[in-house]
Amino acid sequence: MAEKPDNEKYRTLSMCDFCSYEIEECGAKPVFARDLDCGKPLPDASAVLACDKYKSPVEILQKRFH
Ligand code: SF4
Repeated sequence: MAEKPDNEKYRTLSMCDFCSYEIEECGAKPVFARDLDCGKPLPDASAVLACDKYKSPVEILQKRFH
């Protein structure tokens, strides 16, 4: 039998922490953790889990310098 997930151990990464835009100004339509019904309460309901405007700072730097 599979071990029952321990919600205390779940961590939530927000795409905004790895994005070139600022969330207050980006104009995106993101999907927040609170929008997702995954059957367990996620610790950071305001985390962005999907986004229609995400821009990776790493990709931008790669294009600029290579
Ligand atoms: S574009 Fe998306 S990932 Fe980037 S800051 Fe805005 S909501 Fe967050």
